[in-house]
Amino acid sequence: MSEEKEKLRAKVPEFAKYERKFDKALDAVLSGCVKEIRFKPSGRKICAVVGKMGDEFIDPERPYCSCSNFYFKVLGGREEVCYHLLSYRIAVKAGRVDVVEFSDEDYGPYLAATVRDVFEVLKKSS
Ligand SMILES: [Zn+2]
Repeated sequence: MSEEKEKLRAKVPEFAKYERKFDKALDAVLSGCVKEIRFKPSGRKICAVVGKMGDEFIDPERPYCSCSNFYFKVLGGREEVCYHLLSYRIAVKAGRVDVVEFSDEDYGPYLAATVRDVFEVLKKSS
């Protein structure tokens, strides 16, 4: 394991119980996959985690994630969290959320592109 990962792991010991998911989440955070997209001037915010198959939307407050793991396992009560939401929590604690700013005009196109990604992934995984 890299030294950077070791350091990050040490910052968030409370998540270690998620084991494999925790490991995957650490990699995602280190690769800068956790994004917060802010739209100006409205201040609207979208959180996303860039995954291998596309971006997933997350809403850490509800909590919600657009991935199939969240849909089937978390909502089904078999798992507590998916690795995207876990990545977000780790990134927030470690101060590693990658903030990207867009203007409000880009909100529609951004959303459309990301939703398209989500559907592509769903198609592949079903
Ligand atoms: Zn997810």
